[in-house]
Formats: sequence, structure tokens, C-alpha cells
Amino acid sequence: MAQEDNFKKFVAHCKEYGYVFPSSEIYDGLSAVYDYGQYGVELKNNIKKYWWDSMVLLNDNIVGLDSAIFMHPTIWKASGHVDAFNDPLIDNKDSKKRYRADVLIEEHIAKIEDKINKEVDKAKERFGESFDEKKFRETNQRVLANQAKIDEINARFSKALNDSDLPGIRQIIIDNEIVCPISGTRNWTEVRQFNLMFSTEMGSTSDGANKIYLRPETAQGIFVNFLNVQKTGRMKLPFGIAQIGKAFRNEIVARQFIFRMREFEQMEMQFFVQPGTELEWFSKWKETRMKWHQALGFGSEKYRFHDHTKLAHYANAATDIEFRFPFGFKEVEGIHSRTDYDLKQHQEYSGKKMQYFDPEKGESYVPYVIETSIGVDRMFLQVISASYAEEELKKEDGSTDTRVVLRLPAYLAPVKLAVMPLVKKDGLPEIAEKIVHDLKFDFNCQYDDKDSIGRRYRRQDAIGTPYCITIDHQTLEDKSVTIRYRDSMEQERVKIDQLKDIISEKVSIQSLLKKL
Ligand code: ATP
Repeated sequence: MAQEDNFKKFVAHCKEYGYVFPSSEIYDGLSAVYDYGQYGVELKNNIKKYWWDSMVLLNDNIVGLDSAIFMHPTIWKASGHVDAFNDPLIDNKDSKKRYRADVLIEEHIAKIEDKINKEVDKAKERFGESFDEKKFRETNQRVLANQAKIDEINARFSKALNDSDLPGIRQIIIDNEIVCPISGTRNWTEVRQFNLMFSTEMGSTSDGANKIYLRPETAQGIFVNFLNVQKTGRMKLPFGIAQIGKAFRNEIVARQFIFRMREFEQMEMQFFVQPGTELEWFSKWKETRMKWHQALGFGSEKYRFHDHTKLAHYANAATDIEFRFPFGFKEVEGIHSRTDYDLKQHQEYSGKKMQYFDPEKGESYVPYVIETSIGVDRMFLQVISASYAEEELKKEDGSTDTRVVLRLPAYLAPVKLAVMPLVKKDGLPEIAEKIVHDLKFDFNCQYDDKDSIGRRYRRQDAIGTPYCITIDHQTLEDKSVTIRYRDSMEQERVKIDQLKDIISEKVSIQSLLKKL
């Protein structure tokens, strides 16, 4: 409950401080659609730049693309989305709430996993240093019984999914006595398939109009341009194509703020390789992508891989990178070895060859593909939820105060520094304005001369500004200012002409990229 309350506070904070607004708010909002405010858009742009540069700048065999949202409708037939991009939905007749049947089952499995982990933690405490976790998991009766339950559910679940057996999926929910979290009852409807693609019509007259789709992923734009890029860029395998863009899914249940939206943004990279080398590349990309996440410094214990045991028919390996959100470990990124499925499908449906001529082998073939796919908005939620903190501070008179601070990594922070004259007179505002004028070419700066200095610091803490520069009367004498650090709240006196170097080193994306 406390965590839920915290999450609510955090969502309210995002709105109050110009990060994320509900879309169409004056009309009571639009479900699962959000707008990014003045700070949100900066943070989002910084996240995209970090991803883009890590792909396109650091790898000489990865290039970018910006393909259109609207595409020929046959693309979605070829990719399998028209026939199979479905989620199984189920309604509870008492609460009238709708759920994804697969998510209900997965959450039930997660609860059993939690029980196992609690058992392990208890034993760890009891046995201390001498605890052998592997042995405990293999021999403890309660752990084994719970693991057997999980295995049984997983086996039934993957068979039902593979056979598109909707009554079978429902039966798993019934047999495991899964209840609706709202009504607490097991009064479920049948399970139905629901296609997640939005459609619209292209063309001006209704009889001449064609049904087209809003893309549910950006990847297909990369596949259909594979040869355009390969030939015009004279690319040799292995090579990758990266793209950032909007995607749309008519999600059945949209909860948890920007975690699951109906309009969202993806950063996807398709890496084309020689058949037979794909699993090696899959491992390499797994490692590279995990490093990218961990370089942000939120702590490696916040991440884990979730390797898929139920593979889509076209994949020969797949994993998710999961992050520990306030509501538990959830997927932020998928890494998939998609074989030659997509290119072959497009070859068949378009009648055009989608092959690469390998000059070394002297033959043509359809390459295999490793995909890395991450949601910008989920990444945004990762960054901002990991950075949000409420702190108790001891004041000089012994009383306590609280501050809300976004401990954003400095490279991602929307505003890098705030410049503040201590008082609005004696020439201090002019010096502050000049500093902003000189530094605005390098950093996003803010000038602030309203309220007491303490309140100004709190305002900057709340939006995550890593550095505050204060101009006081000593500045008039020796051209020095104080720089106040957001996280430690320590202050240091430095010369004005040192500011650019000090701040550049700490906020530049380059220093983050060098960690990769
Ligand atoms: P989920 O199981 O959570 O629905 P998925 O497995 O369908 O996700 P993919 O199709 O692999 O997701 O999409 C790749 C990435 O795109 C996800 O890891 C996630 O970060 C992002 N993403 C997918 N759907 C949404 C959504 N509705 N809102 C926000 N981000 C999304």
C-alpha cells in the first residue's frame, strides 16, 4: 500500500512540475494517452539522444532511419499482425472490469514466485554465511511444491497459447482460483481475442478509401527498407538499422501511468547477420543493452533478464530486460532473435527479393535478424521513478524539513544549471544574466530571482537540476560564485570562468557514452 501511495505521489509530482500531463485534460483526459510538459520533453529528448548516439555514433555499422507511420496495409498481413497481433481478454461480470487473461495468469505465477523468494530470504537469514541457495531451492519441500505449481501452469499456458485454445486459457484461470482484484470474485466471462491495431482510412471518398493501420511497432519500417539502406549505404553484414518513432496499440488494459500507453514511442534496432551467427550476436546484444541501462548508475540489482521459455514461432531466442519499478519487476526492453522470418514474409507477400549478396561467399541469402526494442516512455518511467526521492532534512534549529528531489543522472536532467542572484539589487542580477547568456549555448540554463534562496533550491531539486549557481556580494569583489550540488547539497566557491569546464565534464552525454 505504501508503495502504491508513493507511486501516486510520484505521478502527481510529474504533473505538478511539468513532466507529464494527462492528454486532453480539460476534457477529462483520454485513457492511456499522455502529453509531455516542458521538462518531460527535455528528459525524453536526452534519453533518445543517449540511445541514438550509443547505436549510430558508437557503431560504424549501424545507421539510422525515419520511416513513415502509415505503411502499405499488406505489410501488416505479411508480418502477421492482422491475424495474430491479439491479446486474450476476459471480463469480470461483477466488477465489469476487463483484463488480459495472459497477464492475470502471469501475475498469479509472479505471486507464487514471491512466495518462493520469501522462503529463500527467510532461510538466508536463518543460516547466514553457510547458506547454500541452490541446494535449498532443490531440496526444500515448500519451494519444490510451489515450483511444481509454476511449472504446471507454464506448461498448460504455453500449450494453450500455441494452440490458440481460448477455453483452455480460461480454464487455467478457473483451476487456479484467480480472482478479480476489484470484486474479489471468480465470475469470469469467456476469453476472446482482441486485435491491438488501430485502423483508419486513407483516401478522400469512402468507396475509394483503403483501410490502413497505425503502426503497432516501428520495426516493419526497417524491414521493408532493408535493401534500400543496404544498397545505398553499401552496407556489409553484419550491420544494423536504428529507428525512433511513434507506435500505437489499442491496449486492453492501460494502467500504471506511462508504462502501458495507447500511443507511445519506441527505439528499435534491427541487426542483420549471417545465418548461423545469430545466437552469438544475440548474446552480444544482450550484454551491450544491459550495460547501456546500468551505465545510468541506478544500481545493478534493479535489473534482471527474463529469458522467454515460450518463444514466438519465428524466434529462436528472446529475453526481456526488466527493471524494478515501484510496482515490481517489469519489461523495459525486448531482445529477440527473429531468424529470417520477417524478411522472408515480405519477400513472399511483395514478390520482391529481400536478399543480401555476400561478396565473400559469392552467394545471396536472406539474413537473420537480432532486434533490440525499447519503449522511450518506459525508459522515461524507469529514469524518473529511480530518481524520485523524499528526504528528511535536519535544519540548523534542530527541527526537520522534507525535500522532494529528482536525483536524475546529470546527463539526462532537463535543466543543467540554475543561476540565482542572492538579492535583486547591487548589480547581482546583471552578473547572473550574463552568466546565463554565456552558458546558454552549451547547457539548458534557468535564471531565477524569485523568493528566498532556500525555496529556489527546493524548486530546482524538484525538477532535478543538478547545479545551482549563486551570485552574492563576494562575486563583485573576486568574480567567484557558489556552486551548490543537488544530491549532497554541498556548496563550493569557484571562479565564474571555471563554470563551463566544471559543468561540461559532469553533464556531457559523451562521458556517459565513454562508459559503454
Ligand atoms: P508487453 O508484454 O508489456 O505488452 P510487449 O512484449 O508487447 O510488451 P514489445 O512488442 O516487445 O512489447 O515492444 C517493445 C517495447 O516497447 C517494450 O519493451 C516496451 O518498452 C515498449 N512498449 C510496448 N508496448 C507499450 C505500450 N503499450 N506502452 C508503452 N511502451 C510499450
